[in-house]
Amino acid sequence: MEKIKLKDFSLSELENFMVSLGEPKFRAKQIYKWLYQKVSSFDEMTDIPKSLREKLKDICEINTMIIQKRFVSSLDGTRRYLLKLGDGNYIESVLMKYKHGYSICVSSQVGCAMGCKFCASTIGGKIRSLSSGEIIDQIITVERDLGERISNIVIMGVGEPLDNFENVTAFIKNVNEPLGLGIGQRHITVSTCGIVPKIYELADMRLQITLAVSLHAANDKARNKIMPINRKYDLEKLIPACRYYIEKTGRRLTFEYTLIKGVSDGADKARELAKLLKGMLCHVNLIPVNSVDGTGFSPPGSESVRMFSEIFESKGIPATVRREMGSDISAACGQLRSTHNIEQNGGNEN
Ligand code: SAH
Repeated sequence: MEKIKLKDFSLSELENFMVSLGEPKFRAKQIYKWLYQKVSSFDEMTDIPKSLREKLKDICEINTMIIQKRFVSSLDGTRRYLLKLGDGNYIESVLMKYKHGYSICVSSQVGCAMGCKFCASTIGGKIRSLSSGEIIDQIITVERDLGERISNIVIMGVGEPLDNFENVTAFIKNVNEPLGLGIGQRHITVSTCGIVPKIYELADMRLQITLAVSLHAANDKARNKIMPINRKYDLEKLIPACRYYIEKTGRRLTFEYTLIKGVSDGADKARELAKLLKGMLCHVNLIPVNSVDGTGFSPPGSESVRMFSEIFESKGIPATVRREMGSDISAACGQLRSTHNIEQNGGNEN
């Protein structure tokens, strides 16, 4: 029988679970605290009676994730983790060190169904969504390996978070819970390719997280070519959903725009994008594309990147160019997992 994964529960669900086992409700708080104080076995839960620990051992599990590979950048301390899940699937998480602390980029799915043309995570499609416990375990596993607390979370790893809405929002709740990881919502960013109905749903929850929308093109013709989701939810649907999110939450929205040489760069594109976003409470993150084998996309030169961001600044739209981190330990988003799969299937690692 498949064991119950305790980290998939919210605190109130864990309370109900304890009651269903005929245990006092307060046990839930004790166990919940242990889960997020990062114990890896029931025997470490010293204030829980031995009989209950034995019962839990039989029917529940705490953590089934192991570090398969770890790469540490000698340039900036970025760490890239290949993590093996209980069912043998692989995901990856990336830890970045900034002046203000550590930030982790977590995955929300094994693979991705969205099919963006420049992205390595979608090669091979979506295998499955992660449970909320599996998303949070990435943080706990990396914190334990690092021996330090992580202060910021971005859900920008493999997968489309809004295609796993329930588990991602359950994850945010446990991250937020003072007895859980105790990380504030303002320190959490969710990145989406633009699943419009889910943006409305998220807005109505009025969370104080940052929403990042992967735009990557300023008109439908161009966006259709690189992001299949645009054929379902075009810019005429996406931009009003973004405005609604800003209105409901009062939060500044981030737009991600990948600069691809000859595809999405150039002064005309910058002006078109600035026009599209005019008057919105937003910030633009410019990302020179990471070349992924087989896509044929390459980043523009640094001069062209600077010109692009200057056009934005001149129109009063704040823009930053994403600093490339950990470039010596792997390339683009999701590449570690796909390279590992190729390796396992007998191919060569580049
Ligand atoms: N599915 C979500 C989150 C995961 S991708 C989304 O689409 O937002 C996180 C960010 O990395 C997205 O903006 C995505 O478009 C971008 N990205 C993916 N592959 C990339 C590449 N090769 N180079 C630069 N950015 C990439």
